[in-house]
Amino acid sequence: MGEPSRPTGPHDARDDARDDGPAGAGAAPVPARCPGCGAPPGLSVLVEEPETHGGARRLICAQCERAWPFPRIVCPACGAEETERLPRFQAEEIPGARIEACDACGTYLKTIDLTRDARAVPAVDDLATCSLDLAARERGYRRIGAG
Ligand SMILES: [Zn+2]
Ligand SMILES: [Zn+2]
Repeated sequence: MGEPSRPTGPHDARDDARDDGPAGAGAAPVPARCPGCGAPPGLSVLVEEPETHGGARRLICAQCERAWPFPRIVCPACGAEETERLPRFQAEEIPGARIEACDACGTYLKTIDLTRDARAVPAVDDLATCSLDLAARERGYRRIGAG
């Protein structure tokens, strides 16, 4: 076969594999991982705590359901702390649940507010609010820990 070989140039090597890891993070361990099994969080809850006003945030492991404390205004996936990059939206039918998304990394986590209804069961509310997941996905976010 007389196929002419394509000219090879020096511009073949892709140069986008540079190590631009996140610079020195603050106090928050980011990305947030379960202290028990190392899996990413699957859900977030707000609980009453005497020393906070309006509740403290806990992340719940997607694998073993262990909960651990985490700052309220920090993206668990990338550590973004700017409120303008962390949009929230709620379901009208379930005022105690909301989506906390992150424009910096494109992920979201669902938050169940247990300070409004202490009898709420996060895993049940998670299923009951799948419309929130749809709304988040329509806006282009993907759920933390979902692949
Ligand atoms: Zn775990
Ligand atoms: Zn993020």
